Formats: sequence, C-alpha cells, structure tokens
Amino acid sequence: MIEYGRVENVPDYFGCNVFNEDTMRDMLPKNVYQALVRTKKLGMALDIDVADVIASAMKDWAVARGVTHFTHWFHPLTGFSAEKHDSFISPTVDGRVIMEFSGKELIKGESDASSFPSGGLRATFEARGYTAWDPTSPAFIKDNTLYIPTAFCSYTGEILDKKTPLLRSMDVLSRQAIRILRLFGSTATRVTTTVGPEQEYFLVDKKLYDQRKDLIFTGRTLFGAKAPRGQELDDHYYGNIKDRVHDYMTDLDRELWKLGILAKTEHNEVAPAQHELAPIFTSSNVAADQNALMMEIMKKVALKHGLVCLLHEKPFAGVNGSGKHNNWSMSTDEGENLLDPGASPRENIQFLTFLVAIVKAVDEYADLLRLSVASAGNDHRLGANEAPPAIISIFMGDELQAILDALETGEMIKAGESQEFEIGVEALPNFPKDNTDRNRTSPFAFTGNKFEFRSLGSADTISCTNTILNTIVANSLREFADKLENSRHFKHDLNDLLVETLKKHKRVIFNGNGYDASWVEEAARRGLPNYISTVDAMPHYTDEKNVQLFESFRVYTQKELRSRTDALLENYSKVINIEALTMLDMAKKQILPTGIRYASELAKAIKMKKDAGLDRSLETKLANKVTELSNALSDAIDKLDSLVINACDKSDTEECARYYRDEVFSSMQSMRSIADELEMSVPEDMWPFPTYGDLMFRV
Ligand code: ADP
Ligand code: MG
Repeated sequence: MIEYGRVENVPDYFGCNVFNEDTMRDMLPKNVYQALVRTKKLGMALDIDVADVIASAMKDWAVARGVTHFTHWFHPLTGFSAEKHDSFISPTVDGRVIMEFSGKELIKGESDASSFPSGGLRATFEARGYTAWDPTSPAFIKDNTLYIPTAFCSYTGEILDKKTPLLRSMDVLSRQAIRILRLFGSTATRVTTTVGPEQEYFLVDKKLYDQRKDLIFTGRTLFGAKAPRGQELDDHYYGNIKDRVHDYMTDLDRELWKLGILAKTEHNEVAPAQHELAPIFTSSNVAADQNALMMEIMKKVALKHGLVCLLHEKPFAGVNGSGKHNNWSMSTDEGENLLDPGASPRENIQFLTFLVAIVKAVDEYADLLRLSVASAGNDHRLGANEAPPAIISIFMGDELQAILDALETGEMIKAGESQEFEIGVEALPNFPKDNTDRNRTSPFAFTGNKFEFRSLGSADTISCTNTILNTIVANSLREFADKLENSRHFKHDLNDLLVETLKKHKRVIFNGNGYDASWVEEAARRGLPNYISTVDAMPHYTDEKNVQLFESFRVYTQKELRSRTDALLENYSKVINIEALTMLDMAKKQILPTGIRYASELAKAIKMKKDAGLDRSLETKLANKVTELSNALSDAIDKLDSLVINACDKSDTEECARYYRDEVFSSMQSMRSIADELEMSVPEDMWPFPTYGDLMFRV
C-alpha cells in the first residue's frame, strides 16, 4: 500500500499556544476586550477590574491546555530572557487548592533584581525590581507554563531591560511620523515600526559537540585547524538540504507556528552546516520577543534531533559567521508602508521625505547604529571579509540613487505652484520596487520597500538596534516637522529642506563594494566613523550628542546610558575571560598532553629504530617539531595565565575591556595558531577532540 505523508492543516494549529487577538475576542466580555484594545493602542493604564477579568480568562484558557504555572518573561541586560515561575495554585479554607490568577499578578510582578547586570544602577541593598505586563505582545504557552511578556524596572524607576526603551522608541517615532504625515494630508493616527529579522545559525552533531569544551562553554571553537574544504566551492548556499536538517527544519516550523511565529523561509547559508530562518515581519516589539523565543526554540528542537544549534556569531574560524538581518520599515494604522515609494506624486514625495530623514539619521548617528551591534562575538564578523564592514553606510541602488541625484540637482523638481505636489512627478512613477541587484556588502541597504540592516550578530537581541533606529529616525522627523509645520510655502520649503539635507548627509551613501580595502580609505576621507571593535564603539553611547538625543525623547537618561555602556563592556570582558580560561583548560589538559604523548611515542620509535639500525630521520624531524610546538604552547599557556590573573585588578570597565582586547585576546590568537599547527602534526586518532572537518561535514 502506498503510504502518503501525514497531511497537516497548518491554519488549524497556527498560534494555538498563543493568547492572541482571536482568543481574547472570543473569551473576553465585549467591554473588557475594548478596554484592552484601547490600552494597546493608546498606551493607557488598565483598570484593575478589567485586568482581573483578563487574567482570569487567560488562566482558564491556559489551564484547559494543561498549564499549571505562569511567569513574567523579561529581557534584562544580559541579552538573554529571564523568567520566574509561580504556580496558579491557591489554598482554600477547607484545605484544598484552586487555580487562581489575579489582575494584579498579571499586571505587575516583583522580582529580586540584584543578580541581573545593571551597570551600577542599583546597589544590591535596594535589590527589588518589578516586571510590568506589556499587553502589546501576546502571552503564550511553553513547557506547561503561561509566559507573560513584561518590561523590567527598578523601584526607583530606572529601566533595567531591553523592552522598555524599545516600546518608548516606537512611541516616539510614531508621534513624529504622524506630524510629517499630517503635512501630506494623511489621516493616520499611529505609525508602527515593523521588523522581519532573518536569523542565521549552524547545526552540529550533539555527540561531537559534547566532546568540545570550547563549544560547551563559549559557543564557538577556540581551536581548530582549517578543514581541507570550507566554503570555497560555494556549493552550500541555497544547496540541497540534508534529510536530517530538513527534519529539523520541519519540526522547528511546527513548533514556531504553534507559538504564532510566522516562520517562512528556510535555506542553507554560505558556510557548510550553516542555515537561515526568516519569519514574516511584524511590529518591532513583537518581532523582538518572537526572535528571542525563536532562538530558544531553535536550540531546543535541535536537541531532539541529536543536533546542537549554534547561534554564536563566529563558531568557526575561516568560514562565514552568522548574523541577523534586521529588515525595518514603518507603517500606518491605515496599512500604508511609509518606505513603499508608491505610485502617486503625493506618495512619491512623502516617501522621499522619509527616505531623506533616514539618510540624515544614519549619518548623524552612525556611531549609535554601530555600537548597537557591538559584542565580543560580533567583533569577529564586522570588518572581516564576510559581514558588512564596521563602517556604517547606506546602499540605495542605481535607480534610487539616480532619483536622489535628480532631486539634489533640482532636475526633477518643476515646482508649478498650482498643483498639489509636483516634485518627482516625472521621475518616480516607474520606481523599481524589486531591487534585485542587491549589494550584500552594505550594512544598511534599501531593498525596495524597507531597509535591511545587516550588521547585527546572530546571538544578539534585536531590541537595542531597533530602539536606536526608531529614535534616530524620530529625531530627523522631528527636525523636519519643526521646520515645515509653520511653513507658508510648504512645497518650496520641503524641497529646500530635502535638497539641503541630502547635500549635507549624502556622504553616508555608498553604492560600491563594502569589502574593498579602498572603501576604508574613502570612508575616512568622508569622515565616516570606523569603530573596529566593541571597545572602540561602546564608549560613544554617552557622547554628548547621543545623551541629548535620548534624553530629549525620554528614551534613556544619561545615567541609564552610562549603566548600559558599563554593562556591555563588562559583558565583553567576561566573555573574553571565559574564552581565555576555556582555552587554558583545553591547552593544559588536552592539547599539551597530546603533544607530549606523541613526542614520547616518537622517541620510543627512534630508540627502537636505532637498536634495529634503521634510519630514523623522519621520526627525529617529527619529534623535534612536536617538541618545539609543545614548548611554544607551554610558553603561551604561561603568558595567558598571567595575563588573566593580572586582569583582576582593573576596576574601570573601559580600561578593563581594552586590556582584554589588546592583551588577553591577542595572546589567545597566538596560542591558537600554535595549537592549530600542532593539530596538523599529530595523528588523527590522537587528537583529543573532533576536528573542523568532523564538526562541519558530519551533520
Ligand atoms: P530577502 O530576499 O532578503 O529574503 P524578503 O523580501 O523575503 O527578502 O524579506 C526578508 C525579510 O524582510 C522577511 O523577514 C520579510 O518579512 C521582511 N520584510 C518584508 N517587508 C517588510 C516590512 N515592510 N517591514 C519589515 N520587514 C519586512
Ligand atoms: Mg535578506
């Protein structure tokens, strides 16, 4: 009998583990549902009575699905998500229990904040922090627990998480974008930023992974000679997906769909064993939560398939690392995508206004965009020949560039006073929406109806980047609106403003090859910042212009910026420290003993050959090489050991991070190259852990 594959009806189970709009509309009394909608739309506080009804419905829905616990789910500065589980049980007078969940428990949770990094914002004696429900991101069920997305603050009001600033930035952008839209006669009342983050990852076999302490402790390989084959044949990109990987992707999609995550595209990436998963875009806040959840599910599902999902930015030297492409746009509550060039003159010029505002934002705050993607892991990518360079620039594409040139020279502006909007009438209607001649080397590329910011690291949350992106664009729009709102010659003034802004900021536009060495010089001539590493980028968070920007919009206070800088630099140092300790451990306990063992085997062979009167030049040569390398490795161990010990007395976070980069990290590199050479000189069956060839080609 022919066995047909199990037919699945995806719409039947899509979002079945999410307390989403539909479920709420079904389960909540009409007035409660409407109150919630108002809260979500206008950001108003929720009545406790209303919250009680919602909490109770949420609990009933969850309990019916076998749920026993709930957790406020938040995103502290660690970059990971955090949760504390409470059960629904509540004792009754007659000694039984009932399942209960109050509005108060839904809205606000207490959490001991003392163990989360705050960058010095909060002393441990005032350890309490609280989590507050974010009704704009839906609650969901995972592992028999109801997850409630929340923001995390200290009792003194400082924000301690990544969600709060993102929500603020979305609000700020909406307000300024609406001011601009009004000028064009739009009736929209809210603008939402949208994000579709494409996620890259590696899969390795769990049994091999378990034999490598570096992968276990740091997520990347700290040693490993290159395999004879890497990505040079370009055969993996979009190549056939292996059965085991395919099974993983199928299972992953299913789990993500249940959680209402719109997983859409899956394909092989450039490096062997590297893949990508792209969901369909949604509002920035939900996208950030879903991306965090997605990363967790990716790892979890991999384990079920005997695989480990590596989200580190650079698991393997010598092949591409993994990033995250942040596709970003803005759309109105009337469904208009503001980065869609549109077909009518009004839409065209409105589009150009937003576009020029973005050019200005990216040029003025390139430092912020750069530091929003800075991490120890991402330092391996940015600037290396695979990811976009550390220099932030915008790619427009030929057609759009031609339009901007025409705008600047005044060619396309025939400012007839009688008609409503004439700017661009002739040039724009045939605007190509499918910008297929993609420039993959640009960090910030226009791709037809959105921008794609490609510099993000694969393991990072997208919150920080989007907080910054929204705020800097809001700033341009605010300046534009301030100038234009009281203008008596709107068309004329708008034209002047766009031309003037473009002239001033076009240096950030670069349509050429971002990997080319000449771009680095060219960018320097243009005065564009090039912060090669996290340590160079991070301190600019608190530059005066940046403090002013964030304070003027109440997204961050200076104190909060300071604390974030410290927390991130501290994290950088800790990551390198863990890597150094792991290297030392592997070098001392696994690699050096291997060198010694092989050298003594060779010595024995030399002796036996001598007794037998045989030529032993080969053994002698090998033994000498292995001994030399082992000696060098031993010296490298001593050096790194003392560097790590000395790091302890650096109390200034920036100084400490610099030390880790300049001293510790560079010594790690030298130690690695010695060990990798030793690997190539030792028999395969003696090498103490799986090689690059094993890890990348035996999936
Ligand atoms: P690519 O060729 O880069 O894969 P796609 O058009 O398939 O391009 O889109 C990539 C990502 O961009 C997807 O996650 C998609 O949902 C997202 N995206 C598309 N339109 C928008 C938008 N208006 N705002 C934000 N993200 C978007
Ligand atoms: Mg893309």
